[in-house]
Amino acid sequence: MVLGEAMMFLWGGGLLLLGIIGFFAVLLGAVARIFRFVLRIATPCGADRRTGTAAVHRPPAVVCGNPRCGHTNRVDARFCARCGVRIRG
Ligand SMILES: [Zn+2]
Repeated sequence: MVLGEAMMFLWGGGLLLLGIIGFFAVLLGAVARIFRFVLRIATPCGADRRTGTAAVHRPPAVVCGNPRCGHTNRVDARFCARCGVRIRG
């Protein structure tokens, strides 16, 4: 069956394309996360200067507790901005 083979080829090609696109999406996300991480290391004191000698002992940012997320949220954030997991409160 030529038609059957063509359909199989289309399905296989589509799945392959989907896989490639998904792979690149994940790769792009990882690269963006690494880039942000490196940027944060490169500028350690830039964000802290604003708080000065305030008596708050909170860290400058709250990292999401979800191991699959790890998003860095604002200090006063109650829920993770990315995955919505409750951070505090
Ligand atoms: Zn999160």
